[in-house]
Amino acid sequence: MHLISFVLAVLVLAQHAWSLPADIDRESVLDITLSQVGNTQIKAVVKNIGQEEVTFVHLNFFRDISPVKKVVVYQNNAEITFEGIKRRIKLQGLTADVLTTLGVGKTIEDVFDIAATTDLSHGGSLTLHSSGSVPLVRDGVVFGHVPYRSNRLKIEVDADKASQIIKAIPTLERRTQMTCDNLQPQQFAARDGSADKFNEYFKTTNDSVRAVVAARLDAVAREANSTTSATTYYCSDEYGYCESNVLAYTIPARNAIANCDLYYSYLPELARSCHYQDRATTSLHEFTHAPGFYSPGTEDLRYGYAASTALQSREAVMNADTYALYANAIYLNC
Ligand SMILES: [Zn+2]
Repeated sequence: MHLISFVLAVLVLAQHAWSLPADIDRESVLDITLSQVGNTQIKAVVKNIGQEEVTFVHLNFFRDISPVKKVVVYQNNAEITFEGIKRRIKLQGLTADVLTTLGVGKTIEDVFDIAATTDLSHGGSLTLHSSGSVPLVRDGVVFGHVPYRSNRLKIEVDADKASQIIKAIPTLERRTQMTCDNLQPQQFAARDGSADKFNEYFKTTNDSVRAVVAARLDAVAREANSTTSATTYYCSDEYGYCESNVLAYTIPARNAIANCDLYYSYLPELARSCHYQDRATTSLHEFTHAPGFYSPGTEDLRYGYAASTALQSREAVMNADTYALYANAIYLNC
């Protein structure tokens, strides 16, 4: 298996601190009401306050039974590290089991325990919030996104009770080195990219932003080539979070990445068409989530070309799929 080199922009290397914007979406379609139902148990009521029925992917969102990031947990205005998973889904041929349809004014509920995915052993005052977007689906294909936003919920947490909640992610006894046959790491190497192309994906030609993108891509290339890497790349579902429609996932707090069966059976090694998913850019996407070699790790703010290129610059720089799409575009000269 051979991958052909990607061509990505490498410019002046400069460290730059980026933080996620507090407000990503301008107009919410899904309104979320968070409430405390136990010490660290949270209920979310998701209501369609838009003008029409929506069908969206609920993976990485409320109703996902895996330990995904449903809320951001703050203490003293700083986010407490999320210890769960981020999953990459396919964008076509999505099956009904991962979709939720919500009519106008209708609601769904989800109850989850934030102590399973954040260290709350110190207890105290916390603020919870959720905002972002979920992929909008028609005929099994992602064609847009649905913005959502929650109230800001302030809670008091009992430290002892929180400490008794079992963490969602198990500790693996065995550590596996990256030995995936299909992953030829040097392919994340990076060189040049026109200002126009950069602007299409990252919404600016500002040198400092180009430097951040270049530095992150360089770090991914180094990491993928390294034999003493900060990231553990599992070629199969070591933690057990693959399911239908999931290609791969990352546990950022562990700097662990795992491929799912679909990574091999569904994805081509390299896409032959612009904006399509493949193994190389899926691995790139996952690597950017891991903070161990370039911090902060990215988020999943939007999936796919249309939604990702609708982000503002400061959001695009923190969006994993934007890097995957940009790599695809440079490689295929889209
Ligand atoms: Zn992701």
